[in-house]
Amino acid sequence: MTDNPTADAIPLTVLGTGAMGTALVRAWLAAGHPVTVWNRTHARAEALAAEGATLARTAAEAVSANRLVIVCLLDDASVGAALADVDLTGRDLVDLTTGTPADGRARAAWATAGGARFLDGGIMAVPPMIGDADSGGYVLYSGSSALFEEHRDTLAVPAGTRYVGEDAGFAALHDVALLSAMTGMFAGVSHAFALIRREDVAPRDFAPLLAGWLTSMAPSVHLAADQLEGGDYGKGVVSNLAMQVAGNATLLRTAEEQGVSAELLTPYMGLMERWLAEGHGEEDGTGVVELLEVGRGRADA
Ligand code: NDP
Repeated sequence: MTDNPTADAIPLTVLGTGAMGTALVRAWLAAGHPVTVWNRTHARAEALAAEGATLARTAAEAVSANRLVIVCLLDDASVGAALADVDLTGRDLVDLTTGTPADGRARAAWATAGGARFLDGGIMAVPPMIGDADSGGYVLYSGSSALFEEHRDTLAVPAGTRYVGEDAGFAALHDVALLSAMTGMFAGVSHAFALIRREDVAPRDFAPLLAGWLTSMAPSVHLAADQLEGGDYGKGVVSNLAMQVAGNATLLRTAEEQGVSAELLTPYMGLMERWLAEGHGEEDGTGVVELLEVGRGRADA
C-alpha cells in the first residue's frame, strides 16, 4: 500500500471492471497511476492486465493493495456482497456505484464503522466520455470533504468533479434528480418523434429543431428555482398555467389526429389541471412540485 497520497499519480484500486469500471481504469492508467483491479468474474478484468493494471484474485487482496479504493459495481447490493468480509481499516473508499440517497448514507455509516473514510459518487457520464476532458462528463461527490480534498486531483483524472456536501446521500440525490429530469425529457422526445413519424417529415430534419427547442427551454429552470426559493410562484410569470392548460387540449387533439397515444403526457397534464383547479391559474406551473410531495394528501392518494 502507498502512504503518500499527495504524490502525483498515486496508486489506487478499482473494484469492478464492467463497462464503467473498465473506462475508469483505462483513464487512470493513461494518466500514469498504478492501478490494482478486481472483478467478480476474473476473466473480465484480464484485458486490463495487458494494459498495465495489476489483477487481484480477491476483493480483500485488491483493497489491501492501496489506500484509495474506487468501487464501481452494478448496484449497492453488489457493493455489500463484494466487501462483506473485507477489512476497510485505514482505507479511503470512493463508491461510484449508482444508488439512492439512503444507500449512500447507509454505506457511509457502514464504511466509517469499518474504519474507512467514505465518499459517495454519482457518475454523470457514459463510458466513452470517461477520460475525455472535453466531453462535459463529471462525477458528483458527497461525504468526507477531507477525503475529497486529499484525492481531488486523482479523482479529476477520469472526469470533472463536483463536490455537493458532507451528507453522503447528496451525490445520489443530485444524480437521481438529474436522471429523473432526463427521463421526463426523453419521454417528451419520444412523443414528439411519434407525432411526426407517420408524416413526410424526416426525423433527421426534425432533430435539430427538437434539440434547439429543448435547449432554449432549459434555462426556464432558473426562474422555477427562484420561484421555489421565494415561495412565490407568481414571480416573473412567463406563461401562466391557465393558458398552458388550455394549450394542453391542442396537444391532446394533435396526438389523437396523428394516431399517437398521449400516455406520456397525461400524468403531467393531470397535475397541471389539479393545480389550476386549486386557484393557481395566474402563476407559472412551478407549484405543481407541491402536488408531488407524498403526504400532501394527493400524490400518495
Ligand atoms: P456493468 O453491468 O458493465 O458491470 C457491472 C459490474 O458489477 C461488473 O463488474 C460485475 O461483475 C459487477 N457485479 C454485479 N453484481 C455483483 C455482485 N453481486 N458482486 C460483485 N460484483 C458484481 O455495469 P457498468 O460498469 O456500466 O456500471 C457500473 C456502475 O456505474 C453502475 O452502478 C451504473 O449505474 C454506473 N454508471 C454506469 C453508466 C454507464 O453508462 N455504463 C453511466 C453512469 C453510471 P461481473 O463482471 O462478475 O458480472
